[in-house]
Amino acid sequence: MFATLSDRLADTFKNLRGKGRLSEADIDATAREIRIALLEADVALPVVKEFVAAVKDRARGEEVSGALNPAQQIVKIVNEELVTILGGETRRLRYAKSGPTVILLAGLQGAGKTTLAAKLALWLKEQGKAPVLVAADLQRPNAVNQLQINGERAGVPVFAPEPGNGVGDPVAVARASIDEAKRKLYDVVIVDTAGRLGVDAELMQQAADIRDAVQPDEVLFVVDAMIGQDAVTTAQAFLEGVGFDGVVLTKLDGDARGGAALSIRSVTGKPVMFASAGEKLTDFDLFHPDRMAGRILD
Ligand code: GDP
Repeated sequence: MFATLSDRLADTFKNLRGKGRLSEADIDATAREIRIALLEADVALPVVKEFVAAVKDRARGEEVSGALNPAQQIVKIVNEELVTILGGETRRLRYAKSGPTVILLAGLQGAGKTTLAAKLALWLKEQGKAPVLVAADLQRPNAVNQLQINGERAGVPVFAPEPGNGVGDPVAVARASIDEAKRKLYDVVIVDTAGRLGVDAELMQQAADIRDAVQPDEVLFVVDAMIGQDAVTTAQAFLEGVGFDGVVLTKLDGDARGGAALSIRSVTGKPVMFASAGEKLTDFDLFHPDRMAGRILD
């Protein structure tokens, strides 16, 4: 295990307890520790640099006094800065003012979109909504089936092309699902799209075509927290290719420290809205910036 930032700083400061103000040398020593801790948590290098510079600025102005020792005081500053960058308060879903709310999911294959679609549907159902899942991932042979199984587990209907209809047109399926939702009075339509193993132009175009066809209220970029440093380039590619309003971080039950959350938020400016942490449909919650800050630091 890595040393926590608190341990690292306690070490750096063990001879400095009780000082009135941090010296420039103290601040430099601290900045080095923070930099290492963030890199170990998989935060992207440019984001680390910017973050460390901001913490240094704040640390320079701080009096070391009161109940906190210098290490605790720096940890508090780092924690506050992390929470601020991660978005402060949790950002809530925006619902359509009239008609069904449409949520489009985009992301790489294996990111956890299909699983997430069902988790989100169950979560919405528990809040009294009437969601419907839409299988617009017609690329992977098993994707429709997988969504149907998950939909059944969640007790949520799935709109899918008829079996045996060949490859099918995901744009047409997505468009038809909106009419179906209006007819059957579903109030949230969750559209699962196809992913590829890597970012490619065709994948982006298909997701963009589906977006244009369904005019979503929210586009959520689903990303596996375990991809670490690659999260930034993937997020940028999806932001340019499809655009998105919020991020869902999946597989947080793994040992990823969550640096991806910080990197994506700083680079794209889009908030992480949900956290997915396991294969069970209930392993899902709103994203809490303060909890993630704690995870990045520990
Ligand atoms: P998609 O290709 O983006 O639709 O991804 P899937 O939903 O099919 O997920 C890919 C794999 O990751 C499946 O084996 C899922 O069971 C698994 N998975 C999805 N979300 C999570 C999660 O939060 N934690 C863990 N441990 N596994 C997950």
